[in-house]
Amino acid sequence: MNALQILLNTIISKNNNYNIKSSIIYLISLYYYKLSIKIFKYISTQHNEKRPQEDATFDVIFAHLFYFFKNSYTMAKRTDYITWDEYFMGIALLSGQRSKDPSTQVGACIVNLHSKIVGVGYNGLPIGCSDDEFPWEKQGGYLATKYPYVCHAELNAILNNIGISLHGCKIYTTLYPCNECAKAIIQSGISEVIYLSNKYAAEDYFIASQTLLKKAGINIRKMEPTIKNLSLSFEESQL
Ligand SMILES: [Zn+2]
Repeated sequence: MNALQILLNTIISKNNNYNIKSSIIYLISLYYYKLSIKIFKYISTQHNEKRPQEDATFDVIFAHLFYFFKNSYTMAKRTDYITWDEYFMGIALLSGQRSKDPSTQVGACIVNLHSKIVGVGYNGLPIGCSDDEFPWEKQGGYLATKYPYVCHAELNAILNNIGISLHGCKIYTTLYPCNECAKAIIQSGISEVIYLSNKYAAEDYFIASQTLLKKAGINIRKMEPTIKNLSLSFEESQL
């Protein structure tokens, strides 16, 4: 088995990583490129001819082909990465997964002007109030439902912020904020609301919220994701 066969076997093998394979392919390509240049110069010398301009063009074409080949097999930048909107809304969705609410899981993520996360939250009971002692019902007498007790995701994200002014920040929220959260958003100085769903648009509290946010000059935007879903794996072998 010669050296070339060993290198080719290394490339084909599944037991080494992509970087090693790419490096070997790169070295082989470089070797053959330099060899072809030597052959070309040798032929030119044999014919004792002045090298015509077209031959220089050949070098350029070959170099382009070489780099095309090289780039096909070496590490290139990923193109299927998620957008900033998808990233921050993804954090909001993930936060919602912490909620104990059996019917609605809402998450929110506040981002500053430098695209840094400064607060996250989900719908849940206030600190010190047990998830097991308070009701999660939607129907019944007011005090027997979750409504008087649960702190919404947007308010939690505002209150959980890292201790900075939220002036000019954006809030990503999975559901359009209710009127109570809209008040907190306005008073905190947040200037933009990005939401995924407004499925309660017919409710009075939604209409009140929309009125408040619009009058306060808050920019409201429905997010249009380019992906339908995003899965996360905790499998060690997948990392
Ligand atoms: Zn709310």
